Amino acid sequence: MTSSEEKPDYKSTLNLPKTDFPMKADLPNKEPLWVKFWSDQNVYSKLIERNEGKPRFVLHDGPPYANGHIHHGHVLNKILKDFIVKFKNLSGSQSEFVPGWDCHGLPIEHQVDKDLGAKKKGMSQLEKRQACREYAQKFVDIQREEFRRLGVLGRWEEPYLTMSFDYEATIARELGKLVGQGMVYKGEKPVYWCIKDQTALAEAEVEYDEHVSPSIYVKFEVPEQDWNEISPALNGQKVSFIIWTTTPWTLPANQAIALHKSYMYAAIQVGPEVYIVAEGLLDQVRKQLDFKEDRLIDRIPAKKLEGLRARHPFLHRPSQVILSDHVTLDAGTGVVHIAPGHGQEDYEVGLHYGLKVLNPVDHQGKFTPEVGVDELTGRSVFEANARIVEILKEKGALLKVEETRHSYPHCWRCKSPVIFRSTPQYFISLSEKDLRGRALDQIRRAQWVPHWGRERIYGMVENRPDWCISRQRSWGVPIMGFRCADCLQSILREEIINFIADRFEKEGADAFFKYDSDELLPPKTACPKCGGAKLVKESDILDVWFDSGVSYASVLEKRPKLKFPADIYLEGSDQHRGWFHSSLLTAVATRGQAPYKTVLTHGFVVDGQGRKYSKSAKNYVPAETVLKKMGAEILRLWVAAEDYRNDIRFSDEILSRLTETYRKIRNTCRYLLGNLYDFNPDAQAVPFEKLPDLDRWALNAFARLTERLTQAFEAYEFHQIYHSLNQFCTVDLSSFYLDILKDRLYTSAPESPERRAAQTVLFELARGLTIWMSPILSFTAEEVWRHLPAFSGKGESVFLNELPRRPPAAWKDDALDERMGRIRAVREEVLKGLEIARQKKVIGSSLEAQVRLSAEGDLLKFLKSEEGHWPTLLIVSQVVIVYEMENPTYESPSLEGGLKVLVLPAEGKKCERCWNITITVGRNERHPLLCDRCVKVLGG
Ligand SMILES: [Zn+2]
Ligand SMILES: [Zn+2]
Ligand SMILES: [Zn+2]
Repeated sequence: MTSSEEKPDYKSTLNLPKTDFPMKADLPNKEPLWVKFWSDQNVYSKLIERNEGKPRFVLHDGPPYANGHIHHGHVLNKILKDFIVKFKNLSGSQSEFVPGWDCHGLPIEHQVDKDLGAKKKGMSQLEKRQACREYAQKFVDIQREEFRRLGVLGRWEEPYLTMSFDYEATIARELGKLVGQGMVYKGEKPVYWCIKDQTALAEAEVEYDEHVSPSIYVKFEVPEQDWNEISPALNGQKVSFIIWTTTPWTLPANQAIALHKSYMYAAIQVGPEVYIVAEGLLDQVRKQLDFKEDRLIDRIPAKKLEGLRARHPFLHRPSQVILSDHVTLDAGTGVVHIAPGHGQEDYEVGLHYGLKVLNPVDHQGKFTPEVGVDELTGRSVFEANARIVEILKEKGALLKVEETRHSYPHCWRCKSPVIFRSTPQYFISLSEKDLRGRALDQIRRAQWVPHWGRERIYGMVENRPDWCISRQRSWGVPIMGFRCADCLQSILREEIINFIADRFEKEGADAFFKYDSDELLPPKTACPKCGGAKLVKESDILDVWFDSGVSYASVLEKRPKLKFPADIYLEGSDQHRGWFHSSLLTAVATRGQAPYKTVLTHGFVVDGQGRKYSKSAKNYVPAETVLKKMGAEILRLWVAAEDYRNDIRFSDEILSRLTETYRKIRNTCRYLLGNLYDFNPDAQAVPFEKLPDLDRWALNAFARLTERLTQAFEAYEFHQIYHSLNQFCTVDLSSFYLDILKDRLYTSAPESPERRAAQTVLFELARGLTIWMSPILSFTAEEVWRHLPAFSGKGESVFLNELPRRPPAAWKDDALDERMGRIRAVREEVLKGLEIARQKKVIGSSLEAQVRLSAEGDLLKFLKSEEGHWPTLLIVSQVVIVYEMENPTYESPSLEGGLKVLVLPAEGKKCERCWNITITVGRNERHPLLCDRCVKVLGG
């Protein structure tokens, strides 16, 4: 029974790949199903339970502000954290991740005020606080869903909120600890003050922007006196110091003028008057003030001038000449106007000289009667600038006025220019109990990634003023200060704070706003000074940076699976000024150590050109839109691919490149799965020793990959993971190992040892790669996992497995690795020859080729030693090693030994089943169209 007319259906005898794993990822639609799966199956809780008893690794989440939808910065931050937490949980640690939100503070209060509009007028403070609480809760819920949608695993059902009652109580108690140690004081000090928001601002709440100010040069005349001791040449002259300022409105508060102790000062005669300025700035001053003719009459060291009394230019009081290190020769005259009520450095030097801290400006930024000039009272300071310039002119004290555009502090929230204003505020002292020194010591001990983070925060802590912790707003935790109604003594005491904190535990910080002093204070509390029984509560609340700063107390120390200090804090590099900073100061003050061992910072998201990427940018695409269009997986790949230590670029072009990479990785996975449809790993795996060299090499390559991945994960170098995974999938697997394997997989008998050997390796690769990529490509890994064949111990989720960090030692084989490296080098050259032959139409597919190779010396020996393997390795039908070759198709310019490649059409006929060309086709009577190898497979 021969059917020579009809070709037998040999295709059906091949083992072609089969899988339900779709080529098209459809991430935007599929991902939500996986998010639901992780949540329904409690995968995160199971993962943590599974790791019970293992060493803990704590990444403490810095709380984002519960306001608005998440943006790219949030995406970057939470995904980076997720990489680490997942890696740790898959590799021998227990890593509980408790997400948190920062809920109090001005931005929310602002937004609520805006939303309430006219309604807020009739509302009590308690009602307004309730509105703020609801607002914050709404965005906690929104952001929580958005973060989960990114595939981030964590304790989402029990996050920490800085507004929860227990957290509010903890904030109060932590403040109490500082108070108890005498580290909190009330002081009259200049602080950044927003006129519009009518509140003090922390340094982190101030940003610099351009502002136009008047720039003026003003004379401070020295009354007539005996100059003999200082500079006899000045006797009988009209002598003035010249100062330069851009804030005329601070002049009413002037108390002194400062010189630098090591500068030389020049006295110059200009017309009938003598002016004194720093010698180093004399040329500049001349130019600025356009002196037509002047004559240097003396050079005087600053120290000789200290103690002189100049006259205030328009008020009846002296202005003392003092020395200060903050005077520079960068600009101005080297003579600096000092108003301790309006500047930090002025305040500090003022303390030294005992100057008065005068602040004639109220909380709306208007002059009070203390300003000393009737017509200025009630005027806003910025408006008053012009009038003050007029007054100076009238008094003959003004030498020059012009406008200057300069960098000036603005409120981060309302963007209006801020002022420096001294008010009664609460401060944490940096010098009490050497808080500064101890904090600096802890900075030295912690790890900072990248390393420049250490210098950055060190410099900030080294130079910062005391921490102003009071805010004149409603939405926060009260400082719980009281005042004696009789003697006005302020009272801030740890016992009182702790007593009230117990109440917060049940009723939240609202209790402080709800009850009168008598109901809040411990029974029989009296004024420590006069014994008065009537105490009045103060209204300041705490800086929100204090709230989030003590999260270690409310979260790390309270949750059983966490610990203090955390192993790592990971936030944007702006947190050197923010959370890293406030956490450090509070923890050092109360625990004697930093709350973290390592601090990792990431850069900011910028566009393709490196510009700030924000909602106001022209090409801005909200994170939500990207999610809906491409899926979270591409964002996860983006976070891994870019080096987060620098600013991170985000553009369509970058996303489409990443999508391409994603497709390659996905296709590699699909290929692996496609060849495992009839494989039972438990029963059919081939022992390692029986695997062919090529298969053992693939496991060797995988073992080396795992080493690189382990190292990269441990060093938090996620871009290395991206590159290693991409390289392995495309170069090692797709274009080498899997390419060569096709023939064996498809044409061998299904149950044959050689096919089972290949499947054994494909399974190991699929399982291992999937777990390894799961921290990064979580959605795809879970999907691949679902499609892997069943095997004993296969967890229901990819995350319920252990990373194959240390593959069996035998997998690593240096000799084999070297040999295969040489084979690949030859192969690459031969492929070039085949390509040339294809272009010249000598062959079509590579299987139509007979390749002749020739070389010299060692290389020839090597070619010979692998002779039988070459057809498989090169995917050609025949390979012949020859000693001489004329007219090669291609000659390698690079290989030592001079490889020559000649490509000819193969000899024989094409096998209808495996497409190899061989002279054995036609020998078998039953299968005259097949090669002898295929005949054998079909049982001929
Ligand atoms: Zn403001
Ligand atoms: Zn009293
Ligand atoms: Zn065949």
